[in-house]
Amino acid sequence: MYDIIIIGAGPIGAGAARHASATGANVAIIGPTEPLRASHTVWSSHYDAARLTHRSARNVQLAQYALEAINNYRAIEAQSGIPFYTPCGTLSLSHDLGGFSYTAQRTAIEQALDFRYVDYTSSAITQAFPMFSGDLGYHGVYDGPPSGYIAPRAMVAAQLTCAQHQGATIIRDIVTHLTPQHDFVTVTTHDGVTLQARRVIVAAGAYSGLCGLLPTPVAHTIKSETVTLGKVSAATAARMADMPSMMVDCVSDVISDAYLTPPLQYPDGKWYFKLGSNSIHDLFFDTLPALQHWIKNGDMVATHHAQIALLKQLFAGVEWLDFTSLPCVITRTPDGVPSISNVHPRVTAVVGCNGSLAKSGDTIGRVAVEFV
Ligand SMILES: Cc1cc2nc3c(=O)[nH]c(=O)nc-3n(C[C@H](O)[C@H](O)[C@H](O)COP(=O)(O)OP(=O)(O)OC[C@H]3O[C@@H](n4cnc5c(N)ncnc54)[C@H](O)[C@@H]3O)c2cc1C
Repeated sequence: MYDIIIIGAGPIGAGAARHASATGANVAIIGPTEPLRASHTVWSSHYDAARLTHRSARNVQLAQYALEAINNYRAIEAQSGIPFYTPCGTLSLSHDLGGFSYTAQRTAIEQALDFRYVDYTSSAITQAFPMFSGDLGYHGVYDGPPSGYIAPRAMVAAQLTCAQHQGATIIRDIVTHLTPQHDFVTVTTHDGVTLQARRVIVAAGAYSGLCGLLPTPVAHTIKSETVTLGKVSAATAARMADMPSMMVDCVSDVISDAYLTPPLQYPDGKWYFKLGSNSIHDLFFDTLPALQHWIKNGDMVATHHAQIALLKQLFAGVEWLDFTSLPCVITRTPDGVPSISNVHPRVTAVVGCNGSLAKSGDTIGRVAVEFV
């Protein structure tokens, strides 16, 4: 019998495993190995080379969650021996800064976290960041280091390594059934293993609800997310190496709320810019087959073309070698903050990454453990 079983080995589950095992509890974390492309019955929101990390957030609490996680990155890297963090700063571009959700509460966040953003007029942006095209009419708000980006696969590997050093057991499997009983919870896996724990934390991302892992429902929606990878040469990537990670409140008929990372080396050894966004073509899912169909066969063409257009607009001087589109998925809660709650006296669930919690996964995991 485990003290705690954590379902889902993503940024939040791995964070929970790290914090729970640090208390001396007997912890198991269950999740499949990470495929490079969609190939399992379940998938994730973090199978990628980069996720932005920054203090900019929709409210002060989320900014504090992010900063706590950021402040722990170097210790996790040191304990695990796995690097994953690049503090290159984050630049938000918008035609209307007052209406941009990530900078709307900037004054409150500056006061609470004790730092100051740097403002750029549209003409000053290209002087400070010469890798961008000429004046595109955007205003800029720069959230300097420690903001930047993380490599989420590496961060999860680092968190799991720390948890393992502290005695946690990692089980590479998929949970098919969760059965709460009076004194314990029984968990059954795809490979036919049955395990028991006094408490369970469900952190299976978009699949928590769709895989029947929530004994009582949690209000959330599950949305498609489309990403474009823009391939560049190693020489171009080296030239752009000082670029900050970015959020762009772009004006387009098709996409909005874009985010992008500097060119990074992906598992195929090539260098890619990554740009994602919301889209008028986004889909919402309420069954597992519908989500699996999107992940494996989703039509991303219109969104992909709009994302390519934005990349070309932002970086007119870049020679693009190729563009690829990738499917992803996010979950949203009605108030835009993650729901961390006891969905049964023995089961805590974290639902609603709202497209922005890879960076704070370690903190959210800590908070989930405090519910146990
Ligand atoms: C395109 C895109 C861009 C994003 N950009 C950013 C960004 O720049 N910055 C940022 O901070 N966040 C970003 N996010 C959001 C971020 O990736 C998520 O908030 C984060 O991944 C959520 O972590 P999680 O652990 O809850 O879920 P996930 O990352 O989805 O991990 C869940 C894990 O559970 C596993 N699982 C699922 N079902 C089961 C089961 N039945 N049994 C066992 N295991 C299961 C999955 O395989 C997966 O490994 C982005 C998301 C997307 C899709």
